[in-house]
Parts: sequence; C-alpha cells; structure tokens
Amino acid sequence: MFSNRRFSIVASVAFAVCLAANSLCLANTVSLTWHKHTSATCPDATIDGWHSSSTTALKTDDDGAPLDDVACDTTLQRSGSVDTTWTYTGGDDVITSTTERTAAFAGMTRNCAVVSSISIGGSTILGCCQGHNKIIMTSGAPAITLAHEVGHKASLSDLNPTITSRIMNYALGGSENRVICTERDAFLGL
Ligand SMILES: [Zn+2]
Repeated sequence: MFSNRRFSIVASVAFAVCLAANSLCLANTVSLTWHKHTSATCPDATIDGWHSSSTTALKTDDDGAPLDDVACDTTLQRSGSVDTTWTYTGGDDVITSTTERTAAFAGMTRNCAVVSSISIGGSTILGCCQGHNKIIMTSGAPAITLAHEVGHKASLSDLNPTITSRIMNYALGGSENRVICTERDAFLGL
C-alpha cells in the first residue's frame, strides 16, 4: 500500500513536468544538409528513410504514459540534394582511427556526412556527432541512429547504464524508439 502510494506521487510529479514543457514549445523541424563520400554507397532513399523513421520514432508515444516515452513533435528532414563529391584530406570512406575521424569532421561543410564504415579500437561505430554539431553516419546504420546523433546535436548524452528501449541508448540495436520528457525538450530546442 505504501509503495503504491509513493509511486503515484512520483508519477504525478513527472506528468506535471511534461505538461509544463509542452506549454513552452510544441513542434519543430530540423533540416539537415548532407555529404556522401565519393566511395560510399548510400542511395538518397536510404538517407531519407533515416529521416522519416527517426521522425516517426520521435513523434510516437509508444507506452501512452509520461514516464518511459513521450511524443516529441520534432521532424527531421533533408535539406537540398546530397553532395556526392565529398572527400577529405587524410582518409577515405572507411574510418579506422580518431585522427581520421577528426579529419573527416574537419572536411565537412554540411551538417551530416555518410561514410562506408567507422571502426576504431576494435569498436564498430554506427554514427557519431562532433561538438553538438556535425554528424557522420555509416551507410549501413539502423535508421534510428540518425535520431540518436541528432540527440547529441541537442546536447544529450549517451545513456549510462544503457536502456535498450531509449533512442539515446549507447549501443544501438535498431529497435530503440523512446524519449523521456527531458530528452524531448532537448530535441524541441534545436
Ligand atoms: Zn551516442
């Protein structure tokens, strides 16, 4: 009885926070410009699918309750055509070191870039974001990776410990689709 009562109070407080945030900002659109490395294979349809799938995951409240997932009315969209002439000094479409990754970021003049793969120190990286700004995606990344990296762009951190249902889960398996109130507010602030 006591524990039920306590849970009820916690839930009410969280719901109040959500309502307050909703009154500040309801929706936004994030337009992203793109490079694709000249050696990377990634159709425009794949890039557009990253936007649409990530947008759907953000907008959908999967549990109908405020604690574990909330609807985040952020639309991710591609802006302009993909630059398919992109290369950078000091590497190629297969990034294998932090030095090469830094060079790739430095060579970007658009918001996002696509390379074939990133593998650093034995870890396969699906995507990454530098300085809450530039995003690099790998061509085979799950669509939700884009929402995750845009979350970093919005100054969100990886979840530690990992929570496999949440978009900011560190080790993306592709099924993550949830954001909580504070994460939604970060997306809406972009
Ligand atoms: Zn991350």
